[in-house]
Amino acid sequence: MSPVDRLARPLRNLRLSVTDRCNLRCAYCMPEPDYVWLPNEQILTFEELSRLVDRFLPLGVTRVRLTGGEPLLRRELPVLVKALAAKPLEDLALTTNGVLLAEHAEALRTAGLHRVTVSLDTLKADRFIALSKRDHLPRVLEGIAAARFPGQLKLDAVVIRGVNDDELEPLLEYAGQVGAELRFIEYMDVGGATHWNREHVVSRAEILTRLEARYGKIAPLGVPGPAPAERFQLPDGRAFGIVASTTAPFCRRCDRARVTADGHFLTCLYASNGLDLKTPLRSGATAAELEQLLAWTWKHRSDRGAEERAALAAQRGPLASAPVLRAAPHLEMHTRGG
Ligand code: SAM
Ligand code: SF4
Ligand code: SF4
Repeated sequence: MSPVDRLARPLRNLRLSVTDRCNLRCAYCMPEPDYVWLPNEQILTFEELSRLVDRFLPLGVTRVRLTGGEPLLRRELPVLVKALAAKPLEDLALTTNGVLLAEHAEALRTAGLHRVTVSLDTLKADRFIALSKRDHLPRVLEGIAAARFPGQLKLDAVVIRGVNDDELEPLLEYAGQVGAELRFIEYMDVGGATHWNREHVVSRAEILTRLEARYGKIAPLGVPGPAPAERFQLPDGRAFGIVASTTAPFCRRCDRARVTADGHFLTCLYASNGLDLKTPLRSGATAAELEQLLAWTWKHRSDRGAEERAALAAQRGPLASAPVLRAAPHLEMHTRGG
């Protein structure tokens, strides 16, 4: 019983946020001086998360990505990874800022994690501090060096004009050195990006033009699928990706759902609210009842958040102001998991 939504999109990918806490303060995600955190007692336990994933499997989910906040801040994360790795999943991945990766990589690999994506926006120590308010670039680079998993290592870089858009080439070269595939992410006007401004967005088209000027003709690799990144190839064969969520959204192909650390089921990154799964989980709902709830929600999904934001054109600004986010922390990117 794999449901499709109102736009005939199946449900295949699940992004599970395991915490809303973070050890960085990236300018495009958490630029404010303080935040309202999810109460500890509302955070789903590993047993609850594992039960929930079991209910998503019959609906068609084959790929799970752990995220946050910073997922490696969640204590004993390899215990959850081990439980999820025992399930029939095609892909079990983790998105991390890399700060704690060196110390946890071996335990995560042993627990059965397939692959890791590390966010890396700059290779310059001063710029890293300016962007994230923490002096952790050396630890992130150590984490990347320690990231040996069966699946390919990916590096994600949010490109912001006047901030790090002079590092397209150095980041590509570095990714090649560490055997990773780099993905450039367009700066998005998501909840949390309270300083977002469309002049700061470096579009997919501009990224490609700049890289072509440096490397020569760039060719698309394959046809765009449900994955957010479109892949390209440099003349020397090196592959990289671009996630053009801001200027060329891929909502029509979107097969992903999100669950926040306190069990809110979101059918879009831009959704204004989610379905509370914690209450039925904790009040003894049966497996069949939970599956029905998930299937019903997916069948009624018509979200096209990024396309709707793109249609705002010149009127486009931050999705939500800091006071709105303080009153509704579920809108935050660090709560939704990106
Ligand atoms: N803390 C982990 C990390 O940074 O990799 C995982 C959670 S983070 C919210 C997931 C992804 O969202 C990161 O790759 C981050 O760069 C991306 N992200 C956050 N805010 C963004 C924004 N305004 N535009 C584009 N990507 C953003
Ligand atoms: Fe940066 Fe990820 Fe933390 Fe957001 S959640 S501040 S993107 S490290
Ligand atoms: Fe999917 Fe929503 Fe992102 Fe569009 S904006 S790709 S519907 S999560």
